[in-house]
Amino acid sequence: MSIRDNLTKIKESLPSNVTLVAVSKTKPIASIQEAYEAGHRIFGENKIQEMTEKWETLPKDIHWHMIGHVQRNKVKYMAQFVSLIHGVDSLKLLKEINKQAKKYDRTISCLLQVHIAEEESKFGFDETELMDLISSGELEPLQHIKITGLMGMATFTEDSQQIIKEFRTLKSLFDKVEAKLSGIKDLSMGMSGDYHIAIDEGSTMVRLGSSIFGARN
Ligand SMILES: *Cc1c(COP(=O)(O)O)cnc(C)c1O
Repeated sequence: MSIRDNLTKIKESLPSNVTLVAVSKTKPIASIQEAYEAGHRIFGENKIQEMTEKWETLPKDIHWHMIGHVQRNKVKYMAQFVSLIHGVDSLKLLKEINKQAKKYDRTISCLLQVHIAEEESKFGFDETELMDLISSGELEPLQHIKITGLMGMATFTEDSQQIIKEFRTLKSLFDKVEAKLSGIKDLSMGMSGDYHIAIDEGSTMVRLGSSIFGARN
């Protein structure tokens, strides 16, 4: 199936409150152009340099989401244009995003990444760190960032019970954060392999790559 057909089929199946981020990492400009011509405007990338190169070439009404792990020294390259940063996992990083956004007189929306998977390798806050940050008073002075929700990745497993458990943990944290901070609306959870489960468990934003663009090399 073509990229257009994949997008159409997926969009028809998504509830109206769920935002689709088309994950175009490693894919050529032509593939993004094809999705763009099919009407899609939200794309996710996991490397700042690759995202910046694509931003420079492609139409300027695209919303670019950074979904990968962000190194502080690279925030400056995307501060001018990035529309949502999914993987924010430290106060230091939030401060750097705030500083760079200020230079462009922008407010950059950010999601706090929560570690929900069993794997050690995945980044993110644990529950205590997250709730401590939110009640610390450290966020208020950061006028050029806006925290709009949470993001998490489930364990890579065939065990759907495990995935359900992890997404439930994230959803319950989302509800807690929503009760404490204003403007919380995005729950970014679900990839090609697990987005049906994620939506059942309350996701409002799914990040889909291979199911739209085909397998990556
Ligand atoms: C690559 C990636 C995705 C998309 O993965 P697919 O399995 O191709 O849908 C989603 N989220 C993050 C953080 C990713 O790095």
